[in-house]
Amino acid sequence: MLPPETDLWNRVEQTAREVFGTFGFGEIRPPIFEPTELFARAVGGETDIVSKEMYTFQDRPADLPEQHKGFVVPEYARRVIVNFDRREIPHTEPNQNLIHELKEKLDRFEWVDKNLKAAKGSELVALFGEYETLYTELAQIVFVKFALGDLVSLRPEATASVCRAYIEHGMHALPQPVKLWYTGPMFRRERPQKGRYRQFYQIGAEVLEMVPPNQDPAKNIGKDAAVDAEVIEMVLAFFAKLGLEGVKLEINSIGDRECRTKYVELLRAELLKVKHKLGPDSQRRVETNPLRVLDSKLDSEQGIIAGLPKIADHLCANCAAQYAEVKRQLGMRGVAYAENWRLVRGLDYYMRTTFEITALGLGSQNAVCGGGRYDGLVELLGGQPTKGIGFAIGEDRLILSLQEASKGGVAQGRDVFVAWMGEKAQATAIAAAQKLRAAGFRVELPPVEQKFGKALGQADKLGARYALILGDDEIATGQWTVKTLASGEQRTVTAEDIVKFLQGEIEQ
Ligand code: AMP
Repeated sequence: MLPPETDLWNRVEQTAREVFGTFGFGEIRPPIFEPTELFARAVGGETDIVSKEMYTFQDRPADLPEQHKGFVVPEYARRVIVNFDRREIPHTEPNQNLIHELKEKLDRFEWVDKNLKAAKGSELVALFGEYETLYTELAQIVFVKFALGDLVSLRPEATASVCRAYIEHGMHALPQPVKLWYTGPMFRRERPQKGRYRQFYQIGAEVLEMVPPNQDPAKNIGKDAAVDAEVIEMVLAFFAKLGLEGVKLEINSIGDRECRTKYVELLRAELLKVKHKLGPDSQRRVETNPLRVLDSKLDSEQGIIAGLPKIADHLCANCAAQYAEVKRQLGMRGVAYAENWRLVRGLDYYMRTTFEITALGLGSQNAVCGGGRYDGLVELLGGQPTKGIGFAIGEDRLILSLQEASKGGVAQGRDVFVAWMGEKAQATAIAAAQKLRAAGFRVELPPVEQKFGKALGQADKLGARYALILGDDEIATGQWTVKTLASGEQRTVTAEDIVKFLQGEIEQ
């Protein structure tokens, strides 16, 4: 990413900061990598994200280099033992068992090594055989069997990290709900194409609220629905402020664990009847995750899917009441939406409200934001019962769409180009640049003097709005020449008035 496009990225992130701030959200900056376990538990081990797309590696102590790099095996084994005793290698059960074996074998190896020198004849042959065997066994233990560190992954999304932080930092003790937003890179091993990258950027937010003990789940349906609607309203306010075009919101309810489980069974039974007509991906999903069949874009499957049972007809009373209330709340906020019963989210943790937003000019990768409710995720990660709703915006796609509609508003490169000529003029040019920069203008000050024709040509290329012309006459009279590059208009302004003039306070 390069300028001037990065100006647009900054404007998008700054707008998010401002708009989300007006809704009471504070920024959280979670780490870029986390224990793999966190994502496996939160996102779900069976999902594509965790099973195929995560970038995962095994951590190891800082002073243990990669195997075979400048180490003989016994030396490496000694280091492993030192690090294990320092607890820099995880004390898992398999590691605890291995460490005994390693210590015994290393002692024996050292003994054999020492006695080898003096040995002769058949004793030498026997010891040498043992030396070789032990060497191989030690290598096996330290390079293959030992887990030198935990598995860590580049984050594929940030909701899991936000929930972990909520638990670790005792945020349940803060006034509830806790409202957090974030921005940063995410990583998924996907087939790269327009709008789909292996390192991509998300802007997201989460609302987390601990459930007081013994709370009747039915009682808070109205409150949850208002929170859901406000979160959606906030995304749309952000998009509106950016001037994003062709924004379409789709919503759905995917029920809770109970009614969805029943619905999924019903769906599976119906899908089994037509399984032979489905493509290979959907055939697999009938077994692993029937809901995902509804996601299918295959033309040949559309007719079949249209006839499947719809979740809206199978929601339990509480889920149905909440869905109805979300729609009412969106209406009160003037938010237009379409219902899409096929909108299911790829991640395991969603329940009830789900939504997706699409925008102009993105082709098949047109989802610019996805979100939903995930009550129970914090508890799954070891916290107390907590409600959650959040979304993630694909920032790359957001930018693509803004550029497509050329609402990018890519800021011009410079406000003022200082065209100066003559030795005396340089000091004045430097002082003028200092004064203008202090007032916040983006100023280009050429390091050496240029003929005015050349200077103005360069100012044009840089997209400057004004050229401040400083030559002998201007220095002598104190009347500076300002040229508006778009119109070619020129006027004179005194040094004192230059800032006010450029700020538009003096008639131009
Ligand atoms: P998800 O976390 O899968 O719900 O994705 C939320 C949003 O992130 C999507 O609607 C996309 O806009 C964006 N997104 C997801 N994966 C990618 C990717 N590989 N490249 C670019 N944007 C992505």
